[in-house]
Amino acid sequence: MYQLKICHLYPDLLNTYGDMGNILALKRRAQWRNIDVTVTNVTIGDSFDSEEYDIIFLGGGQDYEQEIIQNDVLLQKGAEIKNAVEGSKVFLCICGGYQLMGKYYKTWDGKELEYLGALDLWTIGGKERMIGNIVFESGLISDNGSPLKIVGFENHSGRTYLGDNVRPLGKVLSGNGNNGTDGFEGAVYKNVYCSYSHGSLLPKNPHLADHLISMALKQRYNEFEGLTLLEDEFENAARITMLQRLLK
Ligand code: GLN
Repeated sequence: MYQLKICHLYPDLLNTYGDMGNILALKRRAQWRNIDVTVTNVTIGDSFDSEEYDIIFLGGGQDYEQEIIQNDVLLQKGAEIKNAVEGSKVFLCICGGYQLMGKYYKTWDGKELEYLGALDLWTIGGKERMIGNIVFESGLISDNGSPLKIVGFENHSGRTYLGDNVRPLGKVLSGNGNNGTDGFEGAVYKNVYCSYSHGSLLPKNPHLADHLISMALKQRYNEFEGLTLLEDEFENAARITMLQRLLK
């Protein structure tokens, strides 16, 4: 029986807009394939050894929570997170968690927060928040040979800009994405996937959830050949309804 070990970093602080839904989707989709899943919560003050995990998840938080965890993430866990990123560990980082992986965040009210710099990206807050449903298209994941159209929900003040080593996760078809101007959404570096889309991301986009699970299992098991298909009737209905509403 395959095993999948998921680490949820700062679940008590980075948990906005249903981000827990991403953990539930990873867990259930793996269990439906008879994969043995463990989810370990790791927060401020806890020890963190990335070797123990196959997927590391960081959710979104408001500026307030991001400030609370800043010392712990930079001083206690930062070196381990950066090693894991460079060692090609699979990460999913959403909104505030995405911003934390970058170099810094200048908040809309003028605070400057130094962040991990695990990824070459940075964030500058604006007074107007970018709120609403979003659709973006990602050529990194195929949907029967076409780029996958991903649906989600965003709510952020930060505008994120990508440096040279980081690719966007996708192109925005409806909504704002990284900064509302360059037309890109999210970021990918090695096996780190970042997005502004919150807790409906993996439940509504099963291809993306399976992509992350497959990458993680390939790393742990040389002989892993791929996931069995699931029916995904409800997931596809939810996704297609969103696509029809947002792209009309
Ligand atoms: N604090 C960040 C912002 O407003 C992230 C918000 C979030 O994670 N929803 O840009």
